[in-house]
Amino acid sequence: MPGVLQEKVAVITGGTSGIGLAVAHRFVREGARVFVTGRDTDRLEAAVWEIGPAATGVRADVSVLADLDALYERVREEAGRVDVLVANAGVAADASLGAHTEANVDLTLAVNIKGTLFTVQKALPLLTENASVLVIGSSNSARPNENLEVYSASKAALTNLVHNWARRSRERRFRVNLLSPGPTRTPALLGAVGAGADRFAEATVPLGRLADPAEIAEAALFLASDAASFVTGAELFADGGYTRA
Ligand code: NAP
Repeated sequence: MPGVLQEKVAVITGGTSGIGLAVAHRFVREGARVFVTGRDTDRLEAAVWEIGPAATGVRADVSVLADLDALYERVREEAGRVDVLVANAGVAADASLGAHTEANVDLTLAVNIKGTLFTVQKALPLLTENASVLVIGSSNSARPNENLEVYSASKAALTNLVHNWARRSRERRFRVNLLSPGPTRTPALLGAVGAGADRFAEATVPLGRLADPAEIAEAALFLASDAASFVTGAELFADGGYTRA
């Protein structure tokens, strides 16, 4: 049976690790061709090797507009279009009030807000009719974390941007939604919280555990596919109830 993303062309920023990598695997299993991006070329090569021949790796930093131009030029040359865009690349280098540094604030805003905005804007000429644009937010958009306050604010800004973008879904002919994961077992989270990640999840997530990236990928597949053909402007929290606790 053909997969639900058969013949679809997907671009996944930050597709070399964690949630983005799991989404790439899931989409390929449903028949998609995927372009994955990241800044580190070794990680990029490893991800492409792991995902297989349906994957193409493009080195691109989403906060550098020339990199995004080069990314979409490559997608245009090799595939001619984008059916599914997953703006996933994000960073959580952060602190709480009193401990912020200019470098952390600049990096978080440059990658999470500016990078996501231009990832979507620069894709516009390539988006097909009925394309699905998926912005990866965070449960911290609705339940901010005091040690991740600029990150939380940056994800709330994405909620706001998607709200606006979705208003013109009819003229623009694409759907755009947020997928907002809760704490998920990825290198980013484990790097930030370390061995305390499981205890943190037990104490704060109603389902009592971290998400596996593959569970977030299932929610991404729903929003990317025609099963969500009447869903635009939504924020889907795949968060084990974290925002309800
Ligand atoms: P991860 O394992 O660290 O993966 C991040 C990916 O993004 C990597 O492929 C990384 O590759 C890439 N990346 C980072 N900065 C980039 C940039 N400037 N340009 C292009 N690519 C960049 O992180 P993750 O936990 O899967 O996070 C993925 C997304 O989910 C993020 O938007 C994050 O905020 C969101 N999220 C995560 C959690 C969680 O608990 N893990 C919860 C809610 C939301 P390079 O480093 O090689 O560039």
